[in-house]
Amino acid sequence: MKSKKNTACCGIYCPDCIHYKNKYSVYALLLKEHLIEINFDKYAKIKSPFGEQFQKYDEFEEVLNALAGTECNWACRVGGGCSGVPCKIMECCFSNEYEGCWDCPEVEGCDKFDFLAPRCGQMPKNNIRKIQKFGLQHWIEHRDNFYIWQK
Ligand code: SF4
Ligand code: SF4
Repeated sequence: MKSKKNTACCGIYCPDCIHYKNKYSVYALLLKEHLIEINFDKYAKIKSPFGEQFQKYDEFEEVLNALAGTECNWACRVGGGCSGVPCKIMECCFSNEYEGCWDCPEVEGCDKFDFLAPRCGQMPKNNIRKIQKFGLQHWIEHRDNFYIWQK
């Protein structure tokens, strides 16, 4: 069942996630490899009237590495968590033998969702309420936007 496969234990619908099968990681990796090949780090470290911005190259490399390393080619349930790492919600569901938090009587008061709020607001719990109402096969068209900046 495709809808179940793409629905994480926390109520997130993975195909809406910015990391899901993203292109930016591919481009970032290509750029990273190219910059290493031409020793751009050495060029950037030497003070010069050309490209003063390159003095921040270390910070740029850090971001570039993060972009290259956050690809997620599988939905959470299939891939074993975000980029393959299970979160505390997933671990809790599996330890309770729940298919997802929609099976849990504690979901309304559960604080394990707090780390998702800065980017996703109340989306995960809102989605869980939709799953409880419409069922795992028919809830997707009723889901919330993934990120708080999406209308
Ligand atoms: S597993 Fe996590 S990072 Fe990957 S697509 Fe789903 S929500 Fe996004
Ligand atoms: S306590 Fe319930 S709602 Fe909270 S993470 Fe565990 S299974 Fe999900």
